[in-house]
Amino acid sequence: MADPHVVIIGGGIIGSLTGWRLAQQGARVTILDKGRLGDEASWAGAGILCPIHPWLYPDRFSELVNESLAMFPALQRELRERAGMDVQWRRSGLLIPEFPWDEHHHRDAALRWSARFNWQVESLSAQAVRAREPALAGDVCGGLLWPEVAQVRNPRLLQAVRKVLQQYDITIVEQAEVVALDVQRQQVCGAVTTDGRCFAADMVLLAAGSWSGVLAGQMGLRLPVEPVKGQIVLLNGRPGQLRHIIKHDAAYFVPRQDGRVLVGASMERVGFAPGTTEDVVQSLLQAMRRIAPGLQSCDIERTWMGFRPGSPDGLPYLGPVAALPGLWVASGHYRNGVALAPVTAHLMSRWMLGQAPAEDMRPFSVERLTVQDARVGLPAAAG
Ligand SMILES: Cc1cc2nc3c(=O)[nH]c(=O)nc-3n(C[C@H](O)[C@H](O)[C@H](O)COP(=O)(O)OP(=O)(O)OC[C@H]3O[C@@H](n4cnc5c(N)ncnc54)[C@H](O)[C@@H]3O)c2cc1C
Repeated sequence: MADPHVVIIGGGIIGSLTGWRLAQQGARVTILDKGRLGDEASWAGAGILCPIHPWLYPDRFSELVNESLAMFPALQRELRERAGMDVQWRRSGLLIPEFPWDEHHHRDAALRWSARFNWQVESLSAQAVRAREPALAGDVCGGLLWPEVAQVRNPRLLQAVRKVLQQYDITIVEQAEVVALDVQRQQVCGAVTTDGRCFAADMVLLAAGSWSGVLAGQMGLRLPVEPVKGQIVLLNGRPGQLRHIIKHDAAYFVPRQDGRVLVGASMERVGFAPGTTEDVVQSLLQAMRRIAPGLQSCDIERTWMGFRPGSPDGLPYLGPVAALPGLWVASGHYRNGVALAPVTAHLMSRWMLGQAPAEDMRPFSVERLTVQDARVGLPAAAG
């Protein structure tokens, strides 16, 4: 198909980056978003470029993560050159401190996983952890440090990608909510918005984040993607007050270059309930006082929330929909959508243009029905 026209439903990091890669390969691209590009989960996330507990996922997921993370140095250079923006991709390192009162110990599984997937890791004594991060609680008894783990500043990433999209002949339509597909002779031919407009296409990519499940249902498909709400508290710290990303089962802390620290994040299965809540904000602050009391003096600058596109097994859905030729899905990236965005865009854009991935994509198949392992899947629904 010469110069195929692709309509992308959803302009989060997944839809936007895939749109860019498609346009680079000669496709004509239209991105439709019900709001503003990049204003949902992709804006709200913490930008940690490492899954929360990678050792709990299947190996194929770890391979996908490794492939994606290896693309970040080039991606951030491309964005700097094309958009003139620094997305603050930096290897701040990630530290898991250990406390005598921890409910779970990840040490053995984490070390085994790191060796298998070639992640540099250091085992630290209590003294070494305190020397590196004086803001942590005095009862810390050791820790694991991954010095190569990086972070990125989400809003900047999205802003930079948007600037690049505008340099291509990509049509961006905001405030355009897709409600249906145009299907003719069992072939998807376009997407229809609430005001009745039909955007014709040779292929449609469903990349609507947390809303993908509902939208797929409206299209007669089963895609069990649903929102998992996450709340974040932003502290106004001093540069260097915290140096590494600190991850603990109760909360994580992400230090930005300018001294701000993100304290995150809740995992709530409450549908699309909007806004932050006092009880969750207080429980994040309580975790901060216990794990990193050195941050207590920081002012709270603001709080926010976002909806992660959750899937029952924690894995994204990537690929074509056999039942509806012309429809493709890239959704359900859950807690790892920013980390997985480069490889998603790379694989999906090539696949849609005729180059099927050489790697085994069955674990991410849109048609997978069974959940082999739900350890990293959806939390229990609110009562
Ligand atoms: C609090 C929090 C912390 C996180 N931390 C991290 C982290 O540290 N690292 C990491 O890798 N990931 C993290 N994530 C997850 C990551 O943000 C998501 O997986 C990722 O942003 C998903 O991208 P997306 O493009 O699929 O979805 P979104 O960014 O939600 O984009 C979907 C877009 O589709 C649009 N849309 C929806 N329905 C329609 C429709 N019917 N018609 C048209 N447009 C539509 C929406 O308006 C939206 O712009 C976090 C998420 C949250 C909320």
